[in-house]
Amino acid sequence: MKLSWSEEDEAFRAELRQFLDAHAPPEARRRNRDYDLGDALPEWGRHWQATLFDNGWMIPAYPPELGGRNATPVQTLLYLEELNRQQIIRSLHFGGYAIVGPSLLEFGSEQQRELAAPSIRGDIVWCVGMSEPNAGSDLAGLQTRAVDDGDTFVVSGQKVWTSYAMIADRCFCYVRTDRDAPKHKGISVLMIDMDTPGIDVRPLRHISGKADFAEVFFDEVVVPKENLIGDLNGGWRITMGSLAHERGALWVEGVAASQQLVEELIELARDRGVAADAGVRRRLAAAYERTQSLRALGYKGFAGFAQGSSAPEHSYMKLATSEFRKELTQLGLDLEGPFGVVTGGEWGADPARWVNRHFIALAGTIGGGTSEIQRNVIASRVLGLPKG
Ligand SMILES: Cc1cc2nc3c(=O)[nH]c(=O)nc-3n(C[C@H](O)[C@H](O)[C@H](O)COP(=O)(O)OP(=O)(O)OC[C@H]3O[C@@H](n4cnc5c(N)ncnc54)[C@H](O)[C@@H]3O)c2cc1C
Repeated sequence: MKLSWSEEDEAFRAELRQFLDAHAPPEARRRNRDYDLGDALPEWGRHWQATLFDNGWMIPAYPPELGGRNATPVQTLLYLEELNRQQIIRSLHFGGYAIVGPSLLEFGSEQQRELAAPSIRGDIVWCVGMSEPNAGSDLAGLQTRAVDDGDTFVVSGQKVWTSYAMIADRCFCYVRTDRDAPKHKGISVLMIDMDTPGIDVRPLRHISGKADFAEVFFDEVVVPKENLIGDLNGGWRITMGSLAHERGALWVEGVAASQQLVEELIELARDRGVAADAGVRRRLAAAYERTQSLRALGYKGFAGFAQGSSAPEHSYMKLATSEFRKELTQLGLDLEGPFGVVTGGEWGADPARWVNRHFIALAGTIGGGTSEIQRNVIASRVLGLPKG
């Protein structure tokens, strides 16, 4: 089998590389990533996302007015591969460009659709309020309620694990608007200004010490009716509406991150003087082989996706790459030895690089649907097994 790109696609890649060389700030490269969003978005982050948008490189598949250049699915794949190869991030907050912008375009009123461009450009920073203390995997069980009060809804309840709530201008918030309907049928989506009276954001610090998500409390928050997105009680449909433009290539980031980790593990093994150890060599070789297999599987699914058919392989990729990242970072800890788990002080190895990565890898098997839920989905939708 010969894998190659067309001349036009190679020209696309060359133009992208030129753009990245000229404009990507050093902070946007993952290796230099050492920030805590806290309650402020760094200026370079705003500027970089706006620069990508203004040059048609934010979401290449979209038209120029939405930060793209009408790229083909293959070019989107090349784009994501190149960003990941160079470890460049597009945005410090994915909610606006990846979830809210596309959802507004698909479900919003004409007036709401006008918010899509500033959301993708990062001029409006969004958080997405789905999970609650008793509704995570079972999202349809959410209880935050919005009561009809004439021209407004009055919202009360609590969200949790809300990424970027501390820096967000608005929340794309899932609320219960009909308590008597079956649970999937009584949910709506509201846009809520985060500076509305009655909202209390309490940052949650995760195990690595950083705080980029929060609990959000709503106490009789008044929201204008025109902030309803899509149909009343039609919110469930919107949960499925994000990332349509990149769906076929989402696996790229997981594979690229694995490849990067394998390369760094090889460096680490040399550095620690264990590169000739048979056990270490076997684990590294297995990790390399698994990365290449995942890449091949991703391409196979993409080939089907680009021709318009469904790609069952992609259901597996989030599960496979997030679980694999956990194993790779564990190998990093093993190679570091006893000091690998020390996170502070002079004994911490390479500013606790591997232990922090391991923490992030654990979160990766929870956010966006846990591994158990992914397995349930594969069992019922891909393998056709009866629901347990
Ligand atoms: C880094 C990160 C960022 C996040 N950002 C956001 C955000 O911006 N907005 C937002 O709304 N949420 C966000 N979340 C929350 C995330 O969506 C939830 O954590 C996730 O859906 C799981 O829900 P839960 O935490 O309530 O766990 P639960 O659903 O309570 O699950 C607990 C455990 O039970 C297992 N389990 C549950 N149901 C089943 C089942 N049917 N079969 C088998 N096992 C099951 C789960 O796999 C898990 O191991 C984020 C989470 C993380 C880690």
